[in-house]
Amino acid sequence: MRLVVRPSPIHSVGVYTNAAIRKGTRIIEYDGPRISAEEADRLYEGAPRTYLYGLGDGKTVIDGEGIAAYMNHSCDPNCEVDEIKDRVWIFALRDIAAGEELLWDYNLYDDEDPAPCHCGSPKCRGTMYSEDWIRKLKRRAARKNKNGSKPERELGAAGKKEKANPRISGKSRSYAARANG
Ligand SMILES: [Zn+2]
Repeated sequence: MRLVVRPSPIHSVGVYTNAAIRKGTRIIEYDGPRISAEEADRLYEGAPRTYLYGLGDGKTVIDGEGIAAYMNHSCDPNCEVDEIKDRVWIFALRDIAAGEELLWDYNLYDDEDPAPCHCGSPKCRGTMYSEDWIRKLKRRAARKNKNGSKPERELGAAGKKEKANPRISGKSRSYAARANG
């Protein structure tokens, strides 16, 4: 199996396989320096594109580099991520044919700027945020409306941290639930 980075119809460039991959195959490590969530905030606040992956411990973030970081998001992916002893791997979620683009579900969280999805899948949820995070944002918006819908800038001036975090990708709760049971 050889992986190739080339232009993708979904976004910029993507990662393609030039050979068929069987379901369950461990394809590549999502590797990079380990940094703290605070460091990620400091380094990437307001950055348009990040390659951050939040580990399940809730504290460590991988600042992705290498081929895996080029993989695009899809709401109907052919790959998934899994953490094994503090390392993150991309696995084949189904049999993948030679020439296919390798895609995983970013399940983004920790940011409020729009993250529109262009995966083109019939199952597309329209955003790269995780379903958990979308629910959280909706609850937050509902609370804000209740409190008289102050503009965000005013809240910021009041010393409240509003939208400073860079977005981070992670494993969705549903994957975790499946792994545990
Ligand atoms: Zn999508």
